[in-house]
Amino acid sequence: MDSTYDGIILGAGHNGLILQAYLGKAGLKVLALERKSVAGGGLSTLEDPRHPGFLHNTHAFFQRAITAMPWYTDLDLARHGADYIEPELNVALLTSDGRALEWWTDIARTIASFREFSLRDADTLRRWHDEFVPIVRDILAWESRSPPLPPDERQKLLERSAAGRRLLAVSALSPLEFVQQEFEHPTIQAGLLFFNGLREVDLRVRGFGHHIAALLASPAKAQMSRGGTAALARALEASVRASSGEIRLLTEPKRIMVERGRAIGVETGAGEVIRARHFVASSLNPHQTFLDLLDPILVSRELRGHVERFEYNLLAPLFALNLNLREPPIYTANGERPELARAFMVIMGLDHVDQFHDIIRHHEAGTIPPTVMWGACPTLFDPSQAPPGRHTAFMWEKLPHRLFGDPANWDDTRDAHGREMLTLWQRHAPNLADGVIDTFTRSPLDTERSLPNMREGDLLVGAFSHGQIGYHRPFPGAGTYRTHLPGLYLCGSSSHPGGNITGLPGYNAAQVILADLGITADWIPPPIAARLAAL
Ligand SMILES: Cc1cc2nc3c(=O)[nH]c(=O)nc-3n(C[C@H](O)[C@H](O)[C@H](O)COP(=O)(O)OP(=O)(O)OC[C@H]3O[C@@H](n4cnc5c(N)ncnc54)[C@H](O)[C@@H]3O)c2cc1C
Repeated sequence: MDSTYDGIILGAGHNGLILQAYLGKAGLKVLALERKSVAGGGLSTLEDPRHPGFLHNTHAFFQRAITAMPWYTDLDLARHGADYIEPELNVALLTSDGRALEWWTDIARTIASFREFSLRDADTLRRWHDEFVPIVRDILAWESRSPPLPPDERQKLLERSAAGRRLLAVSALSPLEFVQQEFEHPTIQAGLLFFNGLREVDLRVRGFGHHIAALLASPAKAQMSRGGTAALARALEASVRASSGEIRLLTEPKRIMVERGRAIGVETGAGEVIRARHFVASSLNPHQTFLDLLDPILVSRELRGHVERFEYNLLAPLFALNLNLREPPIYTANGERPELARAFMVIMGLDHVDQFHDIIRHHEAGTIPPTVMWGACPTLFDPSQAPPGRHTAFMWEKLPHRLFGDPANWDDTRDAHGREMLTLWQRHAPNLADGVIDTFTRSPLDTERSLPNMREGDLLVGAFSHGQIGYHRPFPGAGTYRTHLPGLYLCGSSSHPGGNITGLPGYNAAQVILADLGITADWIPPPIAARLAAL
């Protein structure tokens, strides 16, 4: 059976679904093809098959500022069932000597916590926070929500305003240089670089010096989805269905069909031909889109070279230890600091900035560094994720994909490494010695098996180094969401502004596709160039 749609989207992760919902709102009939039995990609919540009622978020959990995203409102996701919690004690770094560095949703309380480590650093935090609030609000937030400008044009526009010049000057540093230049206490330096690493920015790369200041100034803190991360996927699906969108599960594309130089549809693995009147948009990675799905004759040597040189993050792959618990972890540090009983993200094993150099060395060598881990007890804030009175908790650690030179080594190493993480966890939370009902682990190899677009276990689907940012993500000059073939677009995390649950690659791709179809919509923001020119 052959069928025709206005457009076809490859992959029904959150970026694909957001694009689909916006195009559906514009009156287009759009189909998404998804290889798994459930849509959502990284928005995944699984029930433990051995222990019914215990829910685990096997990919994304900490979601930054979801409720402040434009698509959250535009697509009416609260009405479609999404609901977010933003715990006040957003992050706590527990040091080995029993202290805690705390990040609160209220900046004054974060400054007070910094003050316990260094008076000077507390003042520095306030200064950077105040200076960067307008830069985040007026420049960086809008840039992430718009197709990127060519770097020369961006630079010229930014040079016209004081805020723009300040941003350019700070960006010239690397995150490591910024932190070492501005802050003095090694634990504070380590904590700041940890956040930088959570967004997968390479701390050594110049051009990202503004990144930590922007994180400090952003009003957007970590949130979690009530009912589990997958609840956002269900809300997005409902929004897609409300505009007559269709999602076909357990369906993989075999090839993108091209006629007279234009993408005109997809042939599925089962041999079905599905035609697209206007576009095919891929949320998959560049290897899948250009090398696996296009006839090689349509891929120039130059483009093939770009794809083959596209770099995935060395430091992004995560190892996860998941627990079913009789009671939540009770940290020894809670005695002195009762507020820690309601800490959201908890970091352990990190005391000093120098540990990052060691972690990088281990990733390059494919070996396991001393554990630095972070995680949460979701059921402290949302009891619906476990049976009554019970809890779930998890810890993540950045570990190399090619363990000892080969990712296959993970299958034999996984459980032993999980036990090592649990030992460290018990050192900080002794009640875990008796409180654990069951555990399971997931390795970077499991990530790639579950979501093959996360090649090499890279959950951001492409490094932010190697020039792969903005207008040059995924390739030099290719950050426009358009490809070399008319009718073929990119809409996933390998496009600006990159991975994590931001939905912005999908949001920006929707702007571009609608513009190419000559369709206007009231949600589309004014062009970024005009906004920067008006600063
Ligand atoms: C362990 C882990 C923890 C994470 N934690 C966080 C976190 O706390 N916060 C955060 O913001 N982000 C987190 N992330 C990252 C986040 O999940 C991703 O960056 C995000 O999901 C990318 O969104 P996407 O829509 O671009 O791609 P995806 O969510 O990966 O969606 C792509 C979709 O395409 C499908 N697909 C792949 N190949 C094919 C094919 N050949 N044919 C058809 N369909 C295909 C996939 O099944 C998937 O549904 C985490 C990821 C992992 C793995």
